[in-house]
Amino acid sequence: MTPLVRRGIGVSPGIAIGPALLLERRISHVPKFDLAAEQVEAEIARLEAAVDRVRRQLVEIEEKADRELGPGVAQIIDAQRLMLDDRSFVERIRERIRKLGQNAEWAIQCVGDDLSERFARISDPYLRARANDLDDLAQRLLRALCGEEELRLEALDEPVVLFAYDLSPADTAILDRERVLGFATDVGGRTSHTAILARSLEIPAVVGLHDITDRVRAGATVVLDGGDGLVILDPSDAIVEEYRARAVSQRRRTRELTATRDLEPVTPDGVHVLLRANVESAAEAVRAVECGAAGIGLFRSEFLYLRRRDALPTEEEHLQEYRRALEIMAPEPVIVRTLDLGGEKELPGEFAPLRGADSLLGVRAIRHSLQRRDLFVTQLRGLLRAAPAGDLRILLPFITGLQEVREARRILECVRADLLAEGQQVPARVPLGAMLEVPAATLVVDHLAREVDFLAIGTNDLIQYLLAVDRNNDAVAYLYEPLHPAVLRLLHRVVQQAEAAGVPLSLCGETAADPLTAMVYLGLGIREMSMAPRSIAVIKNLIRTLPFSEARRIVDGALDLETAQEIEEFALGRLMAHFPDGFPVHRRG
Ligand code: PEP
Ligand code: MG
Repeated sequence: MTPLVRRGIGVSPGIAIGPALLLERRISHVPKFDLAAEQVEAEIARLEAAVDRVRRQLVEIEEKADRELGPGVAQIIDAQRLMLDDRSFVERIRERIRKLGQNAEWAIQCVGDDLSERFARISDPYLRARANDLDDLAQRLLRALCGEEELRLEALDEPVVLFAYDLSPADTAILDRERVLGFATDVGGRTSHTAILARSLEIPAVVGLHDITDRVRAGATVVLDGGDGLVILDPSDAIVEEYRARAVSQRRRTRELTATRDLEPVTPDGVHVLLRANVESAAEAVRAVECGAAGIGLFRSEFLYLRRRDALPTEEEHLQEYRRALEIMAPEPVIVRTLDLGGEKELPGEFAPLRGADSLLGVRAIRHSLQRRDLFVTQLRGLLRAAPAGDLRILLPFITGLQEVREARRILECVRADLLAEGQQVPARVPLGAMLEVPAATLVVDHLAREVDFLAIGTNDLIQYLLAVDRNNDAVAYLYEPLHPAVLRLLHRVVQQAEAAGVPLSLCGETAADPLTAMVYLGLGIREMSMAPRSIAVIKNLIRTLPFSEARRIVDGALDLETAQEIEEFALGRLMAHFPDGFPVHRRG
């Protein structure tokens, strides 16, 4: 068989070699044809067989979920099973086949679309969220009609390379590194949260492969190179051998770099840079220490919510999680970002998402916290109670202006007063910072600087909103340009304003892990950056090799250029002069 090589966007480095597992293929092209009168009963029988099959699958998944994941997930499955038995769903499909002579697949599609639309219009958020369950159920029925097997991770005997149309951040958060060697998806972008999680979990991943789920055969051997963004289907023995050898040398290089963990990130001309870790859980703090991080620069606390599908985290769980991170990192700081839900990071349907939380311009992050104060207060209580365990700092996501900071601080002060009244021990002051990821906020740095203790630039979102490029959409990934002249100008201005106001400034976007952009950030004057723990060694190597004065000269030159391509070529040429043996620089996807 001839190997098939596909290039996508490499989002998490590393090489995976193993059998392919195709996860829940989404059926988007539904066949449509009219039935002759004598075909109708046979079509109904086909539908009944598919319904029976899906019912059996759901019972099986429900039992397993109940055993292994808790009653919350089992309830979601149970809700789908009830829909299957509900008159308004299957009966309507039967009716369409009988009365309109439609084939079963098309009837499912029409009924599913119609009901989903009605659910979406309901004002009760719980019921509205049922639209997703319905869509999932319709897909299961379609797959059953097409004779496709449902494949599930829990049932695996051997590790696999996972293929899916898409994986949500919540799906990715519960992937098991022992079972998933790597994953590849049809859609996605470099800074999507799914990609960020893959890097945190250290699972090699390639996204934006368009039609890879149509090409791959379940069980066939595949090679996935998450650094180069390559997937090779049906590789020859020689290719497999070559990639095995590469994997060995990559592991050796990682070990060598990690050996630098105790070296200071200081440029040859004496400029100190703080390199911190981005984590999604307290458990990852261990990895941050191993990689030599000078603290946690960004703790994405929303994964506390996304990982648990059966209930919202309690105050006690917040407390334990943050206290653990603080104890592991002490005396280094831990910057916990308050809940950043919304956009593609949705709360599981059970928990009544707010209307508008699913839009990138909607009720995200701080907006969500200020509307769901119950969740915000629970989190702040957990945070303040954990604070005595180390150097805690609280970061507010998605700030647009000072009003939100003031409101959040007011709530924080109320929570502190309540805790003190209850006799809890709370430090006199916990630093409060704001993220700069909405372009508007970068234009009022002077205002913000007067009322916050620190600022953190989130380039993942800032670039998305500044360039109007969806960070999750592979179709526009080529426009997601961290070195666009507008991005450079904006960052340049932010650094100058923060310096003038004397407020500490850090950068915690994913681009800091790419040597080329990290060099530009350094040259712009950013002295504090955070990234996935395992990227720290590479960036430390850059900092220890490249004089700050040279980074500054490169940036001065880059600021005069007019396109991202020109800037990239210019900066890359200058960077490579310092690293004749090359550097793992990400090229644009
Ligand atoms: C960012 O937007 O740059 C950021 C760090 O936050 P997140 O990636 O979680 O949106
Ligand atoms: Mg963000």
